Amino acid sequence: MMAFFKQYNQRLQHQHGWEVELDCPVCGNHGPPDYAGWTPDSGTCFGTGSTIFANVCCPRCGQDLKQQAGEKLIELFSHVPTPARNRCLVALFIGILVGLPLLLCAVIWAGVQLGWWGHTAYLALTGLSLLLPPAIFWFNWQIHGVRHRCDCGRPAYVFMGLLGRSYCYRCSTCGKLLRLQD
Ligand SMILES: [Zn+2]
Ligand SMILES: [Zn+2]
Repeated sequence: MMAFFKQYNQRLQHQHGWEVELDCPVCGNHGPPDYAGWTPDSGTCFGTGSTIFANVCCPRCGQDLKQQAGEKLIELFSHVPTPARNRCLVALFIGILVGLPLLLCAVIWAGVQLGWWGHTAYLALTGLSLLLPPAIFWFNWQIHGVRHRCDCGRPAYVFMGLLGRSYCYRCSTCGKLLRLQD
């Protein structure tokens, strides 16, 4: 079981990085910036803003290029649609989230109407509430599974940052851009 959870976590974890060329506003250098790890950022932008976690700076003069990276992310990803499969999964999940309480109400209503409210209804309610954690589990697994496949055959998706609430990835091997929502 532990091995399974480890595999699950690995599937959800993403590799941070920045491999796209940037322009330095100070010295005019154009090229891939120096990447020095990443810092968590709690100030997640909503709407269409970008959030960059990578610490990037100019390899020539050392100027911090986080702002340029943010602009680049918007430029690169604002026209990248989330994969249809991703959109389906999100819709399905919202369906489950909305549907489950409705189902719960239906169970209570039926229980009262049919006079079996009591032990059976209690079991049904327990069953329904037990469904939710595996649903979230399965949903995350499916969403993040997309990152483990690429047309080039050697998927190596690097997480570049957030655009609004969607995750922006780029395949190191072929440069393909991927935008995911969860
Ligand atoms: Zn510079
Ligand atoms: Zn690829």
